[in-house]
Amino acid sequence: MSNCSETLERLYEYIDRELSNEEQAEVQRHLDDCPPCRDRFKFEENVLRQVRRCCRDVSAPPSLVEKVRRICNQ
Ligand SMILES: [Zn+2]
Repeated sequence: MSNCSETLERLYEYIDRELSNEEQAEVQRHLDDCPPCRDRFKFEENVLRQVRRCCRDVSAPPSLVEKVRRICNQ
């Protein structure tokens, strides 16, 4: 099983389905077994979902815009 830092490093790729099937399954397995990582995953997934919804919304709060910029520059 992969460790927490490996899983968190791949979290965005996992959410965006950019990993190979094998890596995708490995992250999934870790999330199934690790509540803290699962919480982090839910949080990040939720942020990304809001970000995508807010991309066309000029009233997005500055903190969110800042987060989008950081994600986009990764
Ligand atoms: Zn973990």
